[in-house]
Amino acid sequence: MENKPDIIATIEHEGFTVKRKGHALWLSCPFHEDKTPSLKINPDKQTFYCFSCNSGGDSITFIQKLHGLSFKDALQYLNIEGNHPVKINPKERTKRDLLKAFRLWEKEYLRQLTDYYREIHDTLRQYSTMEAIELFAIDLHRLPVVEHRLEILFNGTDEEKYELYQGVNVNGKI
Ligand SMILES: [Zn+2]
Repeated sequence: MENKPDIIATIEHEGFTVKRKGHALWLSCPFHEDKTPSLKINPDKQTFYCFSCNSGGDSITFIQKLHGLSFKDALQYLNIEGNHPVKINPKERTKRDLLKAFRLWEKEYLRQLTDYYREIHDTLRQYSTMEAIELFAIDLHRLPVVEHRLEILFNGTDEEKYELYQGVNVNGKI
């Protein structure tokens, strides 16, 4: 698996102290009563192995064994999804999803308003009499609103856009 969390960083993150003896890295094994560090870490292979209780594996196995998690839950614990690490906490993910939805709406709503705006003007051009214009007076009445919203979408701040986003019925209504 690519982007697997570093074995030493993972172990140290869990509050353990890795002891260095020469080139070798040792840890008091958390998987059995260990008086002398008997768990050896191989940073090149990104693995660990305990010579007393034979526990071994990689950073994911370490987290699985330590917290009694399934492989999938360990990935979640380590913020890994498949081969792609997700280095954000759930709160930030929700925020990111909201922002994504907002940006999507912004694009879609701008398209809707632009179409609507064009439609009103096309109709205005086609109808020559006041009577005919009155037929779509409701649409015409909305023109300043549409213009105002287009102005926000084109030149407004994100705060103004977000306010609009919250106030507008997104389901196709303008
Ligand atoms: Zn052990």
